[in-house]
Amino acid sequence: MPASETAPLPTLAVWKFASCDGCQLTLLNCEDELLALAGKIQIAYFPEATRAVVSGPYDLSLVEGSITTAEDATRIREVRRMSRHLVTIGACATSGGIQALRNFADIDEFCSVVYAQPAYIETLATSTPIEAHVDVDFQLRGCPIDPGQLVEVLTAFLQSRTPRIPSYSVCIECKRAGNVCVTVAHGTPCLGPVTHAGCGALCPSYARGCYGCFGPKGTPNTSSMADRLHFLGMPERDVTRIFRTFNAAAEPFRREGLRHDESALPERGGLP
Ligand code: SF4
Ligand code: SF4
Repeated sequence: MPASETAPLPTLAVWKFASCDGCQLTLLNCEDELLALAGKIQIAYFPEATRAVVSGPYDLSLVEGSITTAEDATRIREVRRMSRHLVTIGACATSGGIQALRNFADIDEFCSVVYAQPAYIETLATSTPIEAHVDVDFQLRGCPIDPGQLVEVLTAFLQSRTPRIPSYSVCIECKRAGNVCVTVAHGTPCLGPVTHAGCGALCPSYARGCYGCFGPKGTPNTSSMADRLHFLGMPERDVTRIFRTFNAAAEPFRREGLRHDESALPERGGLP
């Protein structure tokens, strides 16, 4: 078939909202895999990688970051409108990120402490995941995301199939790695039982507890996890804190953190 008659390559766009760029860097770090994909997909919009822009619509959009401004709440609807498929990548896009700690606090107080001129800051009182604003076709968790899982998502898209990303816990990966359980052996608090797999049980492999950077697994039993943390001697305030890191606003972690937040009002989900 002459080159002029070959089918156009599917187009990929990569978008940034409120985030640290770490998940986009994960994509750039997939150098070998990207070379393999280079002949199968056209990188049409990816400002972190290239100034060259191919105008939309796009076949696949990867979205990093959360919604923290009114402008971004408008922009994500425009991104959705011009994307056939939209996949969110990372803790910010899938749960609001570390910046969602504002959801449990007074944003004006935060701004007054962080910025010399808070009057210049225009921001929403909350940080929310992309799926709170538009329909999302798939969510890839992690802070940052795992390169192998990202390549699986891109490959699945090219093959028009559902990505094979298991929703089981870090504990499964930990057992497969042959690790000694840090909680059972040493009494170290570990969120592995409620955390989404994907990192290969990185922290327990170095004898450290998991702190949940991949967010909640499918159907996590967070109240049982909290019971175990209490049993290990963790005070109520620290139970709240352990659920409030990179995925503080992911619903199971948000709810469990609130349940142990002694300063939260009962009507907001705190202890009565
Ligand atoms: S160390 Fe953590 S992730 Fe590994 S089995 Fe124990 S609780 Fe699960
Ligand atoms: S905190 Fe948990 S999910 Fe994150 S890298 Fe460590 S073990 Fe993996």
